[in-house]
This record gives sequence, C-alpha cells and structure tokens, in this order.
Amino acid sequence: METAYLQDKLAGYFTWFHQHPEPGNGEVETTARIREILHDAGIEVLDGRSGGLLKTGLAARIQGKTDTPVVALRCDIDGLPITEASGLPYASRKAGFMHACGHDFHTASLLGAALLLNEGKETLEGTVKLLFQPAEEGGGGAQQVLDSHVLDDVREIYGLHVAANHASGLIGISPGGTHAGVGGFKISITGKGSHGAAPHHARDPIVAAAQLINTAQVIISRNTNPFDQGVLSFTHLEAGNTWNVIPEKALLEGTFRAFTDEKLAWIARRLQECCRAAAEAMGVTVDFSWRMYTMATNNHTALSEFAAETARALGLTVIPAEPVMGGEDFALYQKKIPGVFWTIGINSPEGAHHPGFIADMSQLSSAACFSAALARNSLARLSGKP
Ligand SMILES: [Zn+2]
Ligand SMILES: [Zn+2]
Repeated sequence: METAYLQDKLAGYFTWFHQHPEPGNGEVETTARIREILHDAGIEVLDGRSGGLLKTGLAARIQGKTDTPVVALRCDIDGLPITEASGLPYASRKAGFMHACGHDFHTASLLGAALLLNEGKETLEGTVKLLFQPAEEGGGGAQQVLDSHVLDDVREIYGLHVAANHASGLIGISPGGTHAGVGGFKISITGKGSHGAAPHHARDPIVAAAQLINTAQVIISRNTNPFDQGVLSFTHLEAGNTWNVIPEKALLEGTFRAFTDEKLAWIARRLQECCRAAAEAMGVTVDFSWRMYTMATNNHTALSEFAAETARALGLTVIPAEPVMGGEDFALYQKKIPGVFWTIGINSPEGAHHPGFIADMSQLSSAACFSAALARNSLARLSGKP
C-alpha cells in the first residue's frame, strides 16, 4: 500500500473518530465503525465465544501462514467528558465529550496496521490479534478484555500512546515502567456538629481534615527517598454548607501513584497511619478506604530493544520514553504477557486531557507501519524465522 494512500485513508478514519467521541463503556458507534472498516477489508472480527464477550470494543484476528504463534496489537478507543476547545474544523460533534487523550489516533493507526498486515498475510509467520480496547480512562477496560480470554494464547503484546509534548514522529521506548501505578482513596471524617460560635461543643471535622491533609504531605516530601518517584494529591474536599455551623462530617478523596506495587501499598499504609493520628488528636472517627486502579506499566527489557531496533530499521528516530505519573491499564496485560508500550510524538499545543489537545494526524501512517512491523517481526522471531 502506498504510504500517501494509507495516510489519507487513516486521516479520514481519525477525523471521524475525533468527531464522534464516546465515554468509556459507551463506545457504541465507535465500535460499529471499527467493525465496519475491518469487515470491508475482509478482516475477521472475533465474536461469540472466540473473544466477542466485550460489550463495546472488539478484537479481530489476521491469520498468516499458521495459527500460532499469536501476538497482539492493542489500542484504546474511549473519549473523555471534556468540552473541546481546539478550534479544529473536525472538532467533536458531541457536546461535553472529546478525544483529548489521542485514543482516536491510536484507533485509526491500529486500523492502518490491520490493513497493512492483512495485505501481506500470506507472508506472516503466525497470527496477529488486534485489540480495540474499551474504557481505558478508569472504566476497567483492560480487565474486561482479560476476562473475555481473547488474549489467552497471546505471546507478546504491543501498544502505543501519543506523546503530546514530543516532536512529531519521535518514537519513545524505554524498558521498565513508563506509566505509574495508580491508587485512589476516600476518607470520611465524622465528628460532632455545633454552632460556629461554640467550637468547644463540637468535634470539628474541618480542622481534622485540614490537619490530615497537612500531615499527609510528609509521606512524599519527608518519608520518600528523593530518587524514588511517588505522588500523593488530595483532589476532593467537602464539608459543611453554610457560614455559621460546624458540620458533623467531612469527605476527602485523592490519588497516589508510584512505580512499584510495594511502594503503592506503603503509601496507602502511611496514609492510614495519618488518618489514625488525626482521629486520635481531634477526637473524630476517620474511615479510610483505598483501591488500586492500575499497576505500573512494565516494558520487557529485551522486547524494548527489539522494538527500538524495529523502529530504527523503518527510519524512525527513537528516544527514551518520558516516564509519567499518569496511569495506563495496558499494565494489566503486562502482568501476564511480555510486551512494550511505546509512544509517538504528536506535538500538541496542550497536554493530554486538556480541551485544547490536538494530535498531529500526519503521523498516523508512521504509527501504523511501526505497529505492523512490530507484529510481523515478533512473529518471525517467535517462529524462528527472522
Ligand atoms: Zn487519558
Ligand atoms: Zn490515553
């Protein structure tokens, strides 16, 4: 396929996806459009018992010379509840929703990889599964995919994310963790309300919350080795509803992130200790709960080198991937399947999740060619025919 022809085709797909963002687990039109494009290209969509248990999103399959080995290419397809302010002629047509994380770019480029692999499938040393994952933005999409068993026979998995602040086309690859593990917490403080003029009759949950927030700052700033990455942010604080009443309750929420499971569990433990201390000091009850949203990504060392070589052989420039504290549920796959999560620069004027985010669509064909080459070359290596 001519690169210019492919690029044109993918730009068309991309602008359609950009105009039609849908929230995680609600990607109905998006899934139908992906299905239609794959169907028109004669690519098998896995339905029913072979991996079609997903309500939104889908998996497809391109079989080469043999059924095995199997490798997977993954993209995510969900948009975000953000009102677009990019000024683009192809801006979102859905009020309040936007593709502000580049998942439209990921989807279009994976469709491009599918077309390329399908075109050359008679020389493919195995089978490629194409995964259009729903609900990456906190909606549990990767877990749904794992529960569907569509990846059970997959030996290696590759996924991409756009890098907003990298120059267009730069490929970012690093071994180990590039996206942090993500924990979230909720703290309910129950004290005793009273007149604002009689604090001695109250057990003030607002002062307890303030103290707790302050104390918790030491977890990262004083207890953590400065060379070890971690972050803790309180993001939601709610108490009271007027100016002259001390309320009974306060609610706090927040997130903490780090690159190892041990570190995440340790932050949660320290936070719990801060809660206990605040409860004791202030005479309030503090109820603390937390959960993991995703663990950190973990790029396989040898496969990262393989991916970098594959990119260079295509004439692409490879730089180290920039580690971010944002989470990415591709990490769930990497707990089971060795893989690489790589980035491609798209030179956006604003970062991901910003209403002014813009992905440089001229890089679609490049991302598609690289994805296709990763699948093709890994199958050749796995089947001993490099
Ligand atoms: Zn995102
Ligand atoms: Zn994303």
